[in-house]
Amino acid sequence: MAHPSTASPLIYRVALPVPLHKLFDYLAPDTILPCQPGCRIEVPFRTGSKTAFLVEITRHSTVATDKLKPINRIIDEQPLLAAIDLQLLHWVANYYHHPLGEVISSAFPVGLRQGKTATLPREKGYRLTELGESTASGQLRRTPKQKGMLELFQQHGPLTESALSVWNSHWRGGAKALLSKQLLTITTLEVNPTKLPVAETSTGDLPGNAHQQAAVAAVSRQLGRFGVSLLEGVTGSGKTEVYMQIIRSALAQNMQVLVLIPEISLTPQLEQRFRQRFSANIAVSHSKLTNPQRQTAWLQMQQGYGQIMLGTRSALFTPMKNLGLIILDEEHDSSYKQQEGFRFSARDAAIIRGKLLNIPVLLGSATPSLESFYNAQRGRYQWLSLPERAGDALAPQLQIIDIRNKPLQEGLSEALLKEIDNTLAKQEQVLLFLNRRGFAPTLICHSCGWVAHCPSCDANLVIHAKQQQLQCHHCGKQQRLLQQCPACQHNALTALGLGTERVEYLLEQRYADYRIVRLDRDSTQRKGSLQKYLAQINLGQADIILGTQMLAKGHHFANVTLVAILDVDSGLFSIDFRSPEKLAQLIVQVAGRAGRAEKPGRVMLQTRHPEHPLLTTLIQADYHSFAKRSLAERQQAGLPPYSHQALFRASATDAELATAFLESIAQLARQPFNPANQILGPTPAPMKKRAGRYHHQLLLQCKQRQDLHKLLDTLMPAIAKFKIPAKVRWSLDVDPLDLY
Ligand code: ADP
Ligand code: ZN
Ligand code: ZN
Repeated sequence: MAHPSTASPLIYRVALPVPLHKLFDYLAPDTILPCQPGCRIEVPFRTGSKTAFLVEITRHSTVATDKLKPINRIIDEQPLLAAIDLQLLHWVANYYHHPLGEVISSAFPVGLRQGKTATLPREKGYRLTELGESTASGQLRRTPKQKGMLELFQQHGPLTESALSVWNSHWRGGAKALLSKQLLTITTLEVNPTKLPVAETSTGDLPGNAHQQAAVAAVSRQLGRFGVSLLEGVTGSGKTEVYMQIIRSALAQNMQVLVLIPEISLTPQLEQRFRQRFSANIAVSHSKLTNPQRQTAWLQMQQGYGQIMLGTRSALFTPMKNLGLIILDEEHDSSYKQQEGFRFSARDAAIIRGKLLNIPVLLGSATPSLESFYNAQRGRYQWLSLPERAGDALAPQLQIIDIRNKPLQEGLSEALLKEIDNTLAKQEQVLLFLNRRGFAPTLICHSCGWVAHCPSCDANLVIHAKQQQLQCHHCGKQQRLLQQCPACQHNALTALGLGTERVEYLLEQRYADYRIVRLDRDSTQRKGSLQKYLAQINLGQADIILGTQMLAKGHHFANVTLVAILDVDSGLFSIDFRSPEKLAQLIVQVAGRAGRAEKPGRVMLQTRHPEHPLLTTLIQADYHSFAKRSLAERQQAGLPPYSHQALFRASATDAELATAFLESIAQLARQPFNPANQILGPTPAPMKKRAGRYHHQLLLQCKQRQDLHKLLDTLMPAIAKFKIPAKVRWSLDVDPLDLY
């Protein structure tokens, strides 16, 4: 149907991936059918052209018609984003006060952002020959593999190589034989088989315990309507099993399922478990894949062929034909919040997506964030719990080692060393956690007190002994390790403090006959090295595992029976109000690596503050009690989730410029005075100087979320009119997770 020609022409209002809070109008071509919102369009922009996203078709523009430029071309005949996808993106752009064009653009894989055509690649595959169609499979009974394969093709029709791999990873031999018998022939097919063969290796659901069954039933019952559930399950309680059984119900109703995880390194494990369980088309999406791989995964979901998408934060916005369930594992993990550019929380946006689509959202964790805990407490979320470990595994025992006045060898107490000896003697694995990489955090002169400091940051340089370097962990600056004090020229430089490298040196000497694996950002820089180490550990080819943060994330180490956290104290006294929560989560998560199979595990915490309430609560009670207590403290102090925050950050090489910019925002925010709005700052950031720039911030805090957004709604357009010096870099972070 052609649109009637009227005086005012048809206008395409588009979003462009540029850092401007506005939409752009172009003249629609008037000879063809108008395309729909959600389509990509190429438009002239400045001196070149850009891929734009159509958001509205209108006849009214604030720009005079003769000033409007016509579009270059329509890229998509059919929109890639449905109306509801656009609605979600609009919502998050508004909520995070981020330009819509950048938000929409971030929902697409790179190739599509750049205007490439949205077609699925074709793949090599096989189909039956006429002879193959008419051959009775019974004729192949002497070669059962070939017989099985012939039957597979007779049931399913043509299959791609990847579909065959889902069916049985050793399919090639059979295919070769059938090719040579001229029963099969090679062909090319689209990568999206509508129906996958049932995997030969597929396993059934485990018989769930009563808690698991209750959780599965509670969420499965919700399929088809909105509701958020918080699955609070201790480490090893079988949360993944619960996810898989709910997913099975969703798949049975022809729904697509989105499963988000915080960490790329966890995808292979989970993907493997899913593939063993389901003969479903599983699409994986994370930033380590190639652009074509991500685009294929995205299009499979968008076109409805993909049944399960397993991905990290950025997979949240993948459009889907028939999404019926969203699962977010380790929901407390801060990687769900993007820390730069478009600073959205994938957890919070997932809940909005669930609401818009009217589908259930399941959040799972052993250590729920206080925000989610609070929502469950108030009855906003359905609270599901798995209080015990699954199968026969026992809960790990937490125990404190008081190291006050105790001699330490590179940070390890006698008591701990003895435990390590005993564990190794029983041929069980030991896991040591220290959240600091490098050899030592400080190089100090024993003679004059000089300390190696980063010239660009308010931070000490960290000693890296293997590389004979001093490194700044904030700006990346590297220099050779000094032998002589630059201040007094004495050879009296000593290493102060403890890093993973230093502990490794001690372990290598004391446990020379044992295999030690160090896992930190330095040891896993090479591609694939983390996976290699993890495999080594799981094959029992490591006796002592030493590492940082990386160890806290959901990995399973079945034979680890002793876990020690070497330096708990460094986390106990931070100024950030969220740091007790993060420390408690870390302790419980690291502890959860112990004794996950039939052997019980012990967890030792070395501390000089054995009476600290955070530690005693975790030891005498559990994370749940800790969370309750912490929430009461937050309420007393009026901190989130009992209030809502937004943080303006600004930096410049000249500190004055950054503070002046924030000061003008603060002035605007204080007018007219409203006691409901707390305007705190500007203040220097906790680390003021970083990479040669001075960082300052302004914190807005309101009791009611609406008040905060009302305030931001008036501030942002005003800031857009500021003359901001080019040297100032600034950002807004809604619901900031750290105030750094
Ligand atoms: P979580 O995700 O809570 O850490 P998993 O789902 O990975 O826990 O389960 C931990 C271990 O317990 C796995 O090896 C899993 O196969 C096993 N498991 C889970 N549920 C059961 C069950 N009902 N019976 C026996 N073993 C189970
Ligand atoms: Zn000196
Ligand atoms: Zn630095």
